[in-house]
Amino acid sequence: MKVAGELVKAGHIAYFAGGCVRDRLMGNEPVDYDIATDARPEEVGTIFRKVQRVGESFGVMLVRLMGHTIEVATFRSDGVYSDGRHPDEVTFSDAEHDALRRDFTINGLFEEPRTGEIIDHVGGQADLETGIIRAIGDPQARLREDRLRMLRAVRFAARFGFAIDEQTIDAIRKNAGQLEGVSRERIGQEIRKMLSDAGRVIAVKTLQDLGLDGIILMEDGRDEESLRIAGLVDGAIFSTVLGAWLLDRHAGRGEDHAEIAERWGRALMLSNEVLWGLKGCLEVYGTLKEGWRTLGIAGRKHLAVSKWFGAGLELLEAEDAGQSTTIRHQVAELAADGLAPEPFLDGYDLLKTGISPGPSFGKLLEAVYDAQLEGAIQTKEEALALVARLWSGLNNDEGMVPD
Ligand code: ATP
Ligand code: MG
Repeated sequence: MKVAGELVKAGHIAYFAGGCVRDRLMGNEPVDYDIATDARPEEVGTIFRKVQRVGESFGVMLVRLMGHTIEVATFRSDGVYSDGRHPDEVTFSDAEHDALRRDFTINGLFEEPRTGEIIDHVGGQADLETGIIRAIGDPQARLREDRLRMLRAVRFAARFGFAIDEQTIDAIRKNAGQLEGVSRERIGQEIRKMLSDAGRVIAVKTLQDLGLDGIILMEDGRDEESLRIAGLVDGAIFSTVLGAWLLDRHAGRGEDHAEIAERWGRALMLSNEVLWGLKGCLEVYGTLKEGWRTLGIAGRKHLAVSKWFGAGLELLEAEDAGQSTTIRHQVAELAADGLAPEPFLDGYDLLKTGISPGPSFGKLLEAVYDAQLEGAIQTKEEALALVARLWSGLNNDEGMVPD
């Protein structure tokens, strides 16, 4: 690795550090490489031309080289954490202390880039082999100084299918209530990451077992089977996964799902996009489950082309694959003659018939389009004839325009 090489050439130590070493030892390609070095930030600044001082007081610099951005961080020890999240100050130190400040043993490894030698001050290799997430040092103290680590433990355990060490589990249980103090934004980011792959089934179960679920979601803790979470397709998007989780926790209890979604939006600081997606898939799911059978052809077609239809159907599929397959087949049949064909008539056509814009104008257009979707009319002429009939009906006060 070029960046490490440059540091070494300048007479410094430079190791791959943390997550990337762990990933390489597990045979996974790391998403990004972090380098730990004994060079001070100002020295890093003189060795590389393109350096961004993202956290110079913490000793963290971003180095751009050959199109890659590498995080280069000076070996350090973290001082006291008085906010439960950030150390008040850091002291530059050596590799061993830098390993000891990290969260879990599997995240505390270094690798010498040229030789591939692993530098292990924390027993990380053994835990990686056995599959254990273990806090470095005293779990109580480590989780108290940064409470987000409780969620990181769950995330890594779920992602790799590892067990959490008993003492670390104890410490999480004892401190679960303290998660309250962590910013909602960070909690939301962790949850998003831990729900992003198939490990989400274990993640949800572990959160429940450790008593973290209620605090995270600002509601009562649960002890629920994650049927829908487990039944979801692997690639489901975040909002759909949240939908499955919400149903697993709340379906059949007569609660207003949109209201719960709103609360989750605050609890996890969801973006508008994710919140819309969550509400959207729940709404479609509800309609599919309760109303699909009685819905007419036009109604089914409208639903099938609506934005969250696919996501709602994934939710239903996670719960009842048979029902969702039936609906999929029916939609495929409906699609044969167009789910959303070009309307025979537009507003301009309607004006030309002499109908003036008014309250019934839009309703007329809708009624004619629905008749088209139902297959009740086949041509523009038939559409015009239908308009004439509906219009005269309206004017005879018979209210023939259906809702
Ligand atoms: P991911 O694949 O999710 O990025 P990662 O292990 O690389 O996993 P990062 O959040 O990118 O996680 O952090 C990089 C490294 O920094 C970690 O491997 C760990 O050594 C250290 N680290 C990160 N967050 C913390 C924390 N909250 N407390 C202590 N050390 C941490
Ligand atoms: Mg990382």
